[in-house]
Amino acid sequence: MANELLNMDCKELRDQIAAGQVKSTEAAESVFKAIEKNDPVLGTYISTFKQQALAKAGDIDDKIAAGKPVGQLAGVPVAIKDNMCTTFGATTCASKILENFHAPYNATVVEKLLAADAVIIGKTNLDEFAMGSSTENSGLKQTVNPWDTTRVPGGSSGGSTAAVAAHLCFAALGSDTGGSIRQPASFCGVVGLKPTYGRVSRFGLVAYGSSLDQIGPITRTVADSALMMNIIAGHDPADSTSVDESTTPVCDYLEKLDEPLDNLKIAVVPQFNAGADQQVQKAIADAVDAYEKLGAEITEINMPHLDYAIAAYYVIATAEASSNLARYDGVHYGYRTKNPQDYIEVYSKSRAEAFGKEVKRRIMLGTYALSSGYYDAYYLKALKVRNLIRGDFTSAFEKCDCIMMPVSPTTAFKIGEKIDDPLTMYISDIYTIAANLAGVPAISIPCGFDDNNLPIGLQILAPAFAEDKLLRIARIYEKETDWHKKTPTMI
Ligand code: GLN
Repeated sequence: MANELLNMDCKELRDQIAAGQVKSTEAAESVFKAIEKNDPVLGTYISTFKQQALAKAGDIDDKIAAGKPVGQLAGVPVAIKDNMCTTFGATTCASKILENFHAPYNATVVEKLLAADAVIIGKTNLDEFAMGSSTENSGLKQTVNPWDTTRVPGGSSGGSTAAVAAHLCFAALGSDTGGSIRQPASFCGVVGLKPTYGRVSRFGLVAYGSSLDQIGPITRTVADSALMMNIIAGHDPADSTSVDESTTPVCDYLEKLDEPLDNLKIAVVPQFNAGADQQVQKAIADAVDAYEKLGAEITEINMPHLDYAIAAYYVIATAEASSNLARYDGVHYGYRTKNPQDYIEVYSKSRAEAFGKEVKRRIMLGTYALSSGYYDAYYLKALKVRNLIRGDFTSAFEKCDCIMMPVSPTTAFKIGEKIDDPLTMYISDIYTIAANLAGVPAISIPCGFDDNNLPIGLQILAPAFAEDKLLRIARIYEKETDWHKKTPTMI
């Protein structure tokens, strides 16, 4: 029998805790019980902080009983992808190279969650350094999909999304470089938002592709996504790419959520969507029809450069990764080889022994693309394509408020199905990558199930810094449908 308390979303739980109807300690204990029951199979957490979480929950309960003011997320158990720095526990990036790394500071998003009185219960599994689409590249453990444990949860934020879907936390943070929040959200039937590049601080997020990475919320409802954005969005002086709020202010996303949306114009890109499986295409078409019935105007557009997004992304992301991962040298951070003969061996053996196969592949690809003589042919060309893709979005948003498309061409695939074929794995990112190249916000919301009872996600993309509108658009569909209320049978 599902635990009623765990069925609540963050907003409901927060309100009940604030009203003294539920204790935060009760919520945390229920979560840890669910973790003990189901996480041995699901493998969502790399580490949990039971004592610390229960102590924090107890403090919140005391504050509330004493009538003291508390934060926006007071007493709500949340999880963090293990590529965000915390002073408590290790920050592993699911890599052997950082297995015992303890960060000297908290990521800004972690500080913000703590300031909002959230109860952080653990850090979740991911593809090593967030490189992958299935969480199978984790160097530490395997995560499976709560809807079908023979399938992947998606990736790279597979631990966070499977934990939210299986009620092993109420919300989680993920990071999205090319789809890592949205694609696993779609595979696990939850809501995943990648904010505009620069809207949420990346300070303390272990860098993969710095010009693409963005932290965002993974939740069970759109309202929770808005609530989490209220906490994590905003300028951070510690991150020079975080955007100045005097030109692009943040707002109260939750308060704006139910404001009416008049004359909504939605664009679809038929020739692009045709690459998805039949059942995915049908679910997306049905969702778009539902919007039309609600009064939206649907237009078909052409975005001619989207076909080149994967090629451009896998040059740019690997180039940035090869540079970002140079710091793991056996000297500054993490793993060091035993008994090296000289300093060259400290470097080469430490990296050879502790990086996984996919990370090595990407370092080699990126180093090649940046090397003298190849830079113009690959890296520079990819940057030019990125500009053309940005241009496609600029012209699209002159004609519409948002674009709708699939999140992924398929539903969750079988464990092992694509892991030996990197190109097939990379192609599964076809629908998510363009938002990162263009820096625009995009959300995945549940919009159906296939014949195997696996969730399907609808992706909605909006202009930069229009998260408030994007959330409102997502919300009107969620209100009309029940997809987000379905839960895997194991809980
Ligand atoms: N699947 C993509 C990759 O492997 C995206 C990963 C991500 O968004 N972190 O690079």
